Amino acid sequence: MGFKSFGIPGAVAITAAAFAFSVAAFGAAGDPGDQPYAPFKIGEGLYYVGSSDYTSYLIVTKAGLIVIDGGDAATGHQVVGNIRTLGFDPAKVKILLNTHQHYDHAAGLAEIKQVSGARLYASAADGAIIAAGGRGDPFLKGERFEYAPVKPDVTLKDGQTVTLGGWTLTAHVTGGHTKGCTTWTFPVTVAGKVRQALVHCSSSVLPGYKLVGAETYPGMTADYEKSFATWKALPCDVFLASHGQFFNMQTKRKLLDAGKADAFVDPAGCKAFYTASEAAFRAELKKQGG
Ligand SMILES: [Zn+2]
Repeated sequence: MGFKSFGIPGAVAITAAAFAFSVAAFGAAGDPGDQPYAPFKIGEGLYYVGSSDYTSYLIVTKAGLIVIDGGDAATGHQVVGNIRTLGFDPAKVKILLNTHQHYDHAAGLAEIKQVSGARLYASAADGAIIAAGGRGDPFLKGERFEYAPVKPDVTLKDGQTVTLGGWTLTAHVTGGHTKGCTTWTFPVTVAGKVRQALVHCSSSVLPGYKLVGAETYPGMTADYEKSFATWKALPCDVFLASHGQFFNMQTKRKLLDAGKADAFVDPAGCKAFYTASEAAFRAELKKQGG
């Protein structure tokens, strides 16, 4: 769950409402995050295959396909269709990766796994919750946050790389939003130049998260602190994330369609996002007396 507006200046006021709507709408038609969205090419071998806000990325290698995130259950079904629309065979997905275990990024993994038999790679903490279909999250409790479980095939450590067909992706365990939240980095050619792509997990502090005293999970605040230091040091030319709203996906897509081939190359936007997101975290920490 991303609480789309978190960390985006000017949009913070609507966050609580967006949260309520998102929770109320879970499992029902009309969730603004999982409306179908036409897939498109971001760079050489890199495609957007997610929904209107719950993102999913396809990497096409000479040895098969990689998918990062499955969205919610509705998105997962769309991801499979979007891969076909782009002319690729979803049965050839070999590796499934994930940013975090919340339903809006992990519920769709089951269908992609089912059509492909792909191996799921996940961090220890988030992988355990995906294996339990969302049960065991310290904050999002209840049936509406649960989903079809997928048992990870490989447990990822911080800094571990995943390779397939000439591609190498690096997992950065950036806890806080969830304990095993994973940010991905990898090189990709966009508009004729090799750039560093970053798929941000989430740095949102959900309304109700406890950062001080009895933290939502023990060590949460220290994890956020460590993660902000990590994020600010990572290369980020092609800024991507678990929610489209984190990196203005729909606006950039329009620019891309209008002929701006490097619309998703946005190191300044990445930096500004982390500055705003860290300020939101620090303001909340202060509010809670930390
Ligand atoms: Zn989340």
